[in-house]
Amino acid sequence: MTDGTDDSGTDEWRGPILDDHLHLDPDHARGLEAVEDFVNVGGTHLLIVNKPSWHLDVEAERGEDFRPVFERTIEIVAEATDRLSGRAWPILGVHPGLVSRLVDDRGYAPEEAREIMQAGIGVAAEYVADGRALGLKSGRPHYDVSEAVWEASNEVMCRAFEHGADLECAVQLHTEASEDLTEIADWAEAAGLPAHRVVKHYASGRLEGPTPSVMCEKDWLTEAAERGAPFLMETDFVDDPDRPGAVMGPKTVPRRVSWLLENGHEDAVRIAHVETPARVYDIDTEATLER
Ligand SMILES: [Zn+2]
Repeated sequence: MTDGTDDSGTDEWRGPILDDHLHLDPDHARGLEAVEDFVNVGGTHLLIVNKPSWHLDVEAERGEDFRPVFERTIEIVAEATDRLSGRAWPILGVHPGLVSRLVDDRGYAPEEAREIMQAGIGVAAEYVADGRALGLKSGRPHYDVSEAVWEASNEVMCRAFEHGADLECAVQLHTEASEDLTEIADWAEAAGLPAHRVVKHYASGRLEGPTPSVMCEKDWLTEAAERGAPFLMETDFVDDPDRPGAVMGPKTVPRRVSWLLENGHEDAVRIAHVETPARVYDIDTEATLER
């Protein structure tokens, strides 16, 4: 171990271990080997988010263009589930960074970009409606953009909330770094989606508004564990051969679970891997686990 944790720590935790947000790319990168790494250190459940469409060489011009991206993600989820003692589920949507590719690189007006992205979210919602996906993914850029692009992005996100409300499903968000996203949570509530079903991916240890999906930095996990509020744990493993060290590896969530247990945070482990997944996604990580 390089980080002082001990894999054997998961032996005392017989419950599920969920990574709430990662990507897998078996066509270009590690793919299912990453799932095996996760399993070998005790991981049991995964929420697999589709890669940004342009990473699969899809230059979307309409909602239907996202369909192959979603279909591929669903295939990968099935293959991952075969290797897990629990299971994987897909989270499908449109990466908010697409707005900049459409407007800056491809010459679309912000309103046109909004329409393409909203149409993509609409196609993702079809998969949730027929039970093939668990939830939606949306958000807004984490970097500075023009007022018109910001507005278009917020409108895309609000469309995702409308679908989430209709479908009673969770919406994962990519946003700017923040510990207070109550305004966004209010927009979700106004659309009919309870704030706790909105998940901020790549969260730090505290967040007002949506449910935080906390990146596995030890300081952030300690803060989340000590608060005792609902939270999830993630790596945002990107599985990109060009960015091997860009994010945490697939073993990180199980190792941090061991570390939390060693530090007396069993309640927080239960919150992050059993109670919050049930509350946010209506999934039962215990009933879907076969040891
Ligand atoms: Zn991600």
